[in-house]
Amino acid sequence: MKTPPLASLRLQPLRRRAMAKSIVIALDGPAASGKGTLAQLIADHYGFAYLDTGSLYRGVAYLLLREGEDPKDRLAAERAARDFSLDKIAGADIRSREVGAAASVVAAQPAVRDALLDFQRGFANRPPGEKKGAVLDGRDIGTVVCPHASVKFFVIASPEIRARRRFLELKDAKPGLKEADVLADLMERDARDAGRTDAPMLQAKDAELLDTTHLTIEAAFAAARRVIDGVLRRCED
Ligand code: C5P
Repeated sequence: MKTPPLASLRLQPLRRRAMAKSIVIALDGPAASGKGTLAQLIADHYGFAYLDTGSLYRGVAYLLLREGEDPKDRLAAERAARDFSLDKIAGADIRSREVGAAASVVAAQPAVRDALLDFQRGFANRPPGEKKGAVLDGRDIGTVVCPHASVKFFVIASPEIRARRRFLELKDAKPGLKEADVLADLMERDARDAGRTDAPMLQAKDAELLDTTHLTIEAAFAAARRVIDGVLRRCED
């Protein structure tokens, strides 16, 4: 029997791996709509890897603010995004209002978005830990980062409910915080995120709209699972 050349033996597992497509679940929507909590629950339930893409923009903004740089400074923001890695913000408080506002300023800059794109796509296509799938949440996952995602959700809730949720999250760390200010921040951030020219926050045409205004997190998760299970069943057939 003729032995196959060594090179072809070595390539086979690689080729199979390259062809194996991971299952990608995309969740987009405005701040405090519940998409982060849902994304984490979905990832835990299906054993998929989870990436909160907002933490990348928040991370870049945090590093700029820490260095005393202006988030509007395009060159400084691009440099920070190109040099960015998650270990640079390990343990940092990136959830504050100030960092959130600066994140949406850096996120409007095309060079910053471009610098963070490969990492997000790499995570989706080759999830860490050899997981079979990845869950990504953000603003442009279903439209730009992973337009071929297996399942897409656009998660919304009324501005008042979102402000309440975010206020409850932040109030212990910020005793003087007013709910009205949180609402004003969210509205300003939504307007900037939806109004920018590059990768605006947008519902993808094939995304399921999930309105969590009157839903508990359990009910929202059950609704998401019904959609995902349906798609996974069709993939297996
Ligand atoms: O999701 P989170 O509120 O933490 O995101 C912070 C900011 O990062 C958003 O207001 C938005 O400007 C930006 N962002 C983005 N695209 C993503 C994720 C977040 O522009 N995919």
